[in-house]
Amino acid sequence: MPLQTVTVSSRGTDRIFAGHPWIYRSDVSVSPGVEPGSVVSALDRRKRFLGQALYSSKSQIALRFLTREKRPVDREFLAERIQAAEAYRRRVVQDSDACRLVASEGDLLPSLIIDRYGEYFVVQTLSQGTEKLKPIITDILQERFSPRGIVERNDVAVRALEGLEQTKGILAGDVPKEVVVTINGLRFAFDLLEGQKTGGFLDQRENQRAAQNYAFGRTLDCFTYAGGFALNISHQCQSVLAIDSSQDALGHARRNAELNDISNIEWKEANCFDFLKAADQAGERFDVVVLDPPAFARQRSNLDSALRGYKELNLRGMKILNPGGYLITCSCSYHVTEADFLEAIASASVDAHRTVTVVERRTQGRDHPILLTVPETLYLKCLILRVL
Ligand code: SAH
Repeated sequence: MPLQTVTVSSRGTDRIFAGHPWIYRSDVSVSPGVEPGSVVSALDRRKRFLGQALYSSKSQIALRFLTREKRPVDREFLAERIQAAEAYRRRVVQDSDACRLVASEGDLLPSLIIDRYGEYFVVQTLSQGTEKLKPIITDILQERFSPRGIVERNDVAVRALEGLEQTKGILAGDVPKEVVVTINGLRFAFDLLEGQKTGGFLDQRENQRAAQNYAFGRTLDCFTYAGGFALNISHQCQSVLAIDSSQDALGHARRNAELNDISNIEWKEANCFDFLKAADQAGERFDVVVLDPPAFARQRSNLDSALRGYKELNLRGMKILNPGGYLITCSCSYHVTEADFLEAIASASVDAHRTVTVVERRTQGRDHPILLTVPETLYLKCLILRVL
C-alpha cells in the first residue's frame, strides 16, 4: 500500500532542517483518511519529500519523524534501530544488567521507551504510532533477546494526549513480582508491574556511582525510593539515613539492603520537607545530603513554583550540612534548565549563609542519550556541591 502523505508548512519544514523530529499540528495539513498512528510520508508545500513520520490524530505533536530516507519503515527498520541502541549500551553500560535500551528520540525511535532489567523488558508506547507498532516491537525483542518476560507500563498520563488508554500488563512470557538485577555491582530487586516508573529509576545509575567519590561519615538520602543512592554509597559512610514517603518503596529498599548484606542504613517513612525542617530545628547534622525529588515542574506553567520548591528544599539541605560537607542535588524537571537550577541553589546558599562550590555538573546516565538538536531530551540535572 502506498504511504499516506501529509503536507508540512514552511515553519515545520525549517524545524525538520534544524534537526527537531516533532512537527506541531498547526504546521501540518492532513487529508481525510490518513489513519491515526500510521507512518506517513511528509512533504513540504512544494511536494518535496521531507521524510517519514509517525502521525498522531490527537496530540499537539502531529508528526514524529523517524527518518529522512525513503526506505520502508518495517520490521527490519525497527530491528536495526533497536540493534544500534543495544550496541551503544554495550559501550556505555558496565557493571549493570539493567539500563534504558531504547530512549525514545535519543535513539531515533520517538515515543518508544524500552528498559531492560536483565532477562526482562519493560516497554512504553507513548504515541498512537508506537502503540500501533507494539506487536512488531514485542516480536523483535523476543527474537533478539529471548527474554523471560516483557511488561508494558503504559499507565502514564501522557498517553491521554494521544487519546490512548492507560494500561499495564504482561505482553509476553512471565514476570515475577521481584526481578533482581545488578546495578553498579549491587543487587536490586524491582517490581516491574507495580513499581514507580518502569520499576526503577535507571537514569541515576551514573550519578549514584559518582556519589561514591564524595560520600562519607553520616549521610542523608532524601527521596530514596528503592534505596538507589543509599545503597550505592553505604560502603563509604558510617551510617546512612534514607527517607521516602512511600511505604512500598521502602519495602523494596529494605529488601535491597538485605540482598547486599548492607546493615548501616536506617530507612524512614516521612515527608522529606517535614523531616528536613524538623532535623534543622533539632540541630541534627550530616556530612552528605542527597536530594532527588520527583519532578516539581511537569508543565512550563509550574516553573515559578517549582523553582521556589527547589530553593526551599536545597536551603534546608544546606542548613543541616556540616562545613565541608557535600550536597548531591537533582532535578528531573525538563522545564527547569541547569541555569535555573543553579540560580535557585545559589539563592538558597545566600539565605543559608553558606559558601558553595560546584564540584560536578552531571546529567542523566549515557543510556538516556541527549540529542543535541532536541533540548527536550536533556531533563536530569545532578549537581555535586561542596558546602563550606
Ligand atoms: N533517588 C531514587 C529515585 C527517587 S524518585 C533513586 O535513585 O532511585 C522520587 C521518590 O520520592 C519516590 O520514591 C517518591 O515516593 C518519593 N517522594 C515523593 N514525594 C515525597 C516527599 N514529599 N517526601 C518523601 N518522599 C517523597
